[in-house]
Amino acid sequence: MIGPGPIRVRNTLGRKIEEFTPFNPPFVKMYVCGPTPYDYTHIGHARSFVAFDGIKRYLQLRGYDVYHIQNITDIDDKIINKSHETGMSWQEVAETYTKDYLEALTQLNIKVDLHPKVTHHIKEIIEFIEKLVEKGYAYVASSGSVYFEVDKYPKYGELSGRRTKDSWTQEEEYIQEKKKPYDFALWKAAKPGEPSWESPWGRGRPGWHIECSVMSTRYAGGKLDIHGGGMDLIFPHHENERAQSEAYLGESPWVKYWLHTGYLTIEGEKMSKSLGNIIALKDAIREWGPQTLRLWLLSGHYRTQLEYSEQSLTQARKLLTRLRDMAYKLQRRLSEDEPVHYLEDKDVGLLYQIDSIILGWHKEMSNDFNLAGALRQAWELTNIFYKELEHSESRAVLQRAYTGLIHMNKVYAVLDDILAPEEAVRPQEDLLGNLVDLIVEVRSELRKRKMFDLADTIRARLGELGIQLLDQKDKTSWRWTE
Ligand SMILES: [Zn+2]
Repeated sequence: MIGPGPIRVRNTLGRKIEEFTPFNPPFVKMYVCGPTPYDYTHIGHARSFVAFDGIKRYLQLRGYDVYHIQNITDIDDKIINKSHETGMSWQEVAETYTKDYLEALTQLNIKVDLHPKVTHHIKEIIEFIEKLVEKGYAYVASSGSVYFEVDKYPKYGELSGRRTKDSWTQEEEYIQEKKKPYDFALWKAAKPGEPSWESPWGRGRPGWHIECSVMSTRYAGGKLDIHGGGMDLIFPHHENERAQSEAYLGESPWVKYWLHTGYLTIEGEKMSKSLGNIIALKDAIREWGPQTLRLWLLSGHYRTQLEYSEQSLTQARKLLTRLRDMAYKLQRRLSEDEPVHYLEDKDVGLLYQIDSIILGWHKEMSNDFNLAGALRQAWELTNIFYKELEHSESRAVLQRAYTGLIHMNKVYAVLDDILAPEEAVRPQEDLLGNLVDLIVEVRSELRKRKMFDLADTIRARLGELGIQLLDQKDKTSWRWTE
């Protein structure tokens, strides 16, 4: 395969496609805004987390050494409100939903290197704010709250593209003590009944935005190659993070590439609490299985909207079944000790077709991680598998198709239990394939013993379940029907 060329990414800052060249290749430091654990993880969160996991895995496949940090905002207004509503302590709220979030990551095969929590970094947050005050970027109000003075940072608004000051309004509840309505809180003075920590400005707690600046600069040693999150975080969260971090570091750019994921929609509407159309991740996993869900979340370009529908998930399930069936069959064929066949013209043609698909897949992934285009190549690989490859006698052809699957699975990560069982978490869906294998084996044994009636009944019953058997000389293979 001839290489797919450089990786190009669309940077939210500047809204242009740029060639991906990290600060210190092959290292890539990636920080993704993680959850505020005050409720169950929903599929909208999962969309962003799976997309960045896919991006990271593709960079790894291309030889980069990626360090992936994803924070947990374990103290926030939402957690405090939930604690008041439920009577649970704020710590219990955060712990309960952090557990749910971490389980979701395991189910969806998302690997994060580090999960820093805000409450473990109060001291570092205070030090960071002190430096901002010292440098003249922040001021202390009479209440003991500390605010970032936006007018001191001239690049404010560049990331979000909001260039007029009247579009910057935020944190209106503190408007009377802020110098400007668009200044934002770094430290919030304690209110009765709320958790608080000692600080040079009296008891209080960190604002939302400061934690990400502190934890990302701390764990990434200053600058970041990629900063990611959902597109709803661009303003004010990421705009504020950028202002804080560049003011603190005294240099720019703090982040080389800003990447943002699109919304998840249901019947065309953004999934949100206010519309009441939230689908909890655990419910979606129960209905579709973690692998189908993961593959579906990787089926749309990360920047575009992804519509949750029965139809799109059914398609993902179908592709998953095909990829898994293909992996099992190729593995079986390749483990059989068959004589090596010379390459015939038709095999050379097949090798060329497979290579074009693998290269096409890489080209899509290199083009701003175009997951939608890449998925079309995965479908194409399964198409030619069932049309031509399945019964190929050429070991080279089978091996190349297997290599294609291995490449694609580096991102999709839904075949690990078949391709690399020693590393895999075995999910439920795998059981199904193994059971069909077992039934087919028993049926072959019945045929050998000339119990054809029973063998035919099994064939018919499997047919009703959408499983087609193909009897060859002395072995039987199976596939899912359309
Ligand atoms: Zn953040």
